[in-house]
Amino acid sequence: MDLKEKIRSIENFPEEGVIFRDITTLLKEGDALREAIDQIQANLDGVDFDLILGPESRGFIFGMPLAYNLKKGFVPVRKKGKLPAEVISKEYALEYGTAVIEVHKDAIQPGQKVVIVDDLLATGGTAKAIIEMIESVGVEVVGLAFLIELDFLHGRDVLEGYNISSVLHY
Ligand code: IMP
Repeated sequence: MDLKEKIRSIENFPEEGVIFRDITTLLKEGDALREAIDQIQANLDGVDFDLILGPESRGFIFGMPLAYNLKKGFVPVRKKGKLPAEVISKEYALEYGTAVIEVHKDAIQPGQKVVIVDDLLATGGTAKAIIEMIESVGVEVVGLAFLIELDFLHGRDVLEGYNISSVLHY
């Protein structure tokens, strides 16, 4: 199956000059959804890890079925102010301004090996922020798995040295 055919491209969203890759058209088709999950999972073959971390909100969509299939725990990475218990936070730069991501402090333990799963790797800013946030408490990032990678934004360069896999490239 050609998964790219299932992804809708929307020009000038969320701003002029950007082509947004919309995965909702893939998600609503059972076969395509299954194929996408299976392929992300295949890219993690042989990676030994304890937990999957997924950033809000499309990281939940792809991270959770992988955690379920592989019998691993899932830890949500959320935007500031959403998590009720004690958190660790990381502020990072966006194109305009900054954002803060958070994870529950007791959800990750020093020495654990984690995989970060998200729908799409663009500039790598989000993934890098997660890595810095959790490495600061002694967690090891042993893999990053995406459905889509926007090669022309060179997120891989920002994440040099990490084990990165993507099913589809644009
Ligand atoms: P980065 O931090 O620049 O790598 O951007 C990655 C984040 O932005 C991911 O969490 C994506 O969900 C989101 N994102 C950026 N561009 C797109 C797109 O074209 N389609 C869907 N999500 C996108």
